Amino acid sequence: MNILNIDQNKLKQILVSNNFKAFSANQIFEWIYKKGILSFDEMTNLSKDLRDFLNKNFKVCSLKVKTIELSKDEQTKKYLFELEDGYFIESVLILSDTRKTICVSSQVGCPVRCSFCASGKKGFFRNLKAFEIVEQVLLIAKDINEKSTNIVFMGMGEPLLNFDEVVKAVKIMSDDKYLNISQRRITISTAGILENIKRLKDENLKVYLALSLHGATDEIRNRIIPYSKKYKLQDILKELRLYFEKTKRDILFEYILIESVNDSIEDAKKLVHLLKNFQCTINLIPYNEVENLSYKRPSGVKILKFKNYLISKGLNVVQRYTKGKDIAASCGQLAYKRRL
Ligand code: SF4
Repeated sequence: MNILNIDQNKLKQILVSNNFKAFSANQIFEWIYKKGILSFDEMTNLSKDLRDFLNKNFKVCSLKVKTIELSKDEQTKKYLFELEDGYFIESVLILSDTRKTICVSSQVGCPVRCSFCASGKKGFFRNLKAFEIVEQVLLIAKDINEKSTNIVFMGMGEPLLNFDEVVKAVKIMSDDKYLNISQRRITISTAGILENIKRLKDENLKVYLALSLHGATDEIRNRIIPYSKKYKLQDILKELRLYFEKTKRDILFEYILIESVNDSIEDAKKLVHLLKNFQCTINLIPYNEVENLSYKRPSGVKILKFKNYLISKGLNVVQRYTKGKDIAASCGQLAYKRRL
């Protein structure tokens, strides 16, 4: 059994029913979540009997680190993990100023199948368990010997199509008994799974939500995000507004700029019209090219014109500096070059 798959109370019960002290559960979880120790043998304040019991009955980690790639500017690291059933997932560490942001995967492959994305290209294989999501964070922290400051669910997969396990992982990450990362520092990115945005609002979590918008009309979104045909953009926006009203968390709109798909001034005008009166930030992400896909990144001049138009109309815009492009760790590139 994976020890990350049970909570502290359950572990206490198991320990007591095997004649160990309940408080050892606190010590074990402190070793794992606070000190980043992922081997029972290194938990030096536990008795030898208890360590033997734990080794016999539990494992701490199911993921294996297969490769770690560092970008040339040393600001991005991409991790390839092998899951117990032989699938592979990728996670990315992004360093900037004082932030150490981990971009986690939530599924193996992705059912949303965005036509510009490497993860979607290969289809969907399975949901990750909460402990497999948390392990990505633990293993990266172990590698850099430091805790992460921010978590973004923007790796492989659509987090809101793995709702229960993602919510469970968020609770583990943010609980002060476990990883103690404030929910203000956790962002869930979604292509717009309407019914689960509603459910998330009812969970009373305070995480940020990011909508992968990528087009200001249903027509463009349906073309590049096939799964979005299930929902009307206006309905998604209505639900996001309710999420904002309840959580007071600004909504982030991600917009991947793709040449001749969504990068004209006409597109920018539609975007301004769509988001007027919405308290939000638009994250412009110039497209990162993916092998065997014909989409292109717009020229620097076009990107600047698009961005300046939005700013001139009063929208709050940030342009994501492309990190990790040389190791295919940028947005939409995960799973590229790798077998799933
Ligand atoms: S961009 Fe995100 S939602 Fe779209 S296919 Fe890729 S991983 Fe899935």
